[in-house]
Amino acid sequence: MPLLPILHFPDPRLRRPALPVEAVSDEIRQLAADMLDTMYAAPGRGLAGPQVGVMLRLFVIDVTWKEGTPDPRIFINPEILDASDAMHTGTEGCLSIPGIPVEVTRPAEVTLRWIDPDSGQRTERLTGDAAICAQHELDHLNGRLIIDLMDEGARLAASPVLAAMGCA
Ligand code: ZN
Repeated sequence: MPLLPILHFPDPRLRRPALPVEAVSDEIRQLAADMLDTMYAAPGRGLAGPQVGVMLRLFVIDVTWKEGTPDPRIFINPEILDASDAMHTGTEGCLSIPGIPVEVTRPAEVTLRWIDPDSGQRTERLTGDAAICAQHELDHLNGRLIIDLMDEGARLAASPVLAAMGCA
């Protein structure tokens, strides 16, 4: 299966909100499979449509494959129905902003509703790495990047690198 080129910041497509997937067609299934292959090859734990220039609301994650237990998951038209009051702070990287780890604080758990290509509409409470990774990827569908979530000090420290990438 073909690997897809991953867009890098500051490509403007990373800033545009993505559109809903209208039907789970064969093309969408193939796209999701290619996105998983691309994610594994990168190597990463999540990849969203806009990161490969596809402005549709879908992303893939696998938060355990690097530990030797692959668990590929495909999320189409995901929506957060509920987020925990408990927050989680951790370091996140992004395949579209290589070399810039960012400390990000997010809700520790989220209830997500989405369409799975095999089992249809699903609702599930995500916890742990899956909750964090899914929120990171869902942000991509809304044009939001981890550098938007930096605090002022981190932004200042990263600004020479970001400037070198084309965003002063
Ligand atoms: Zn990312």
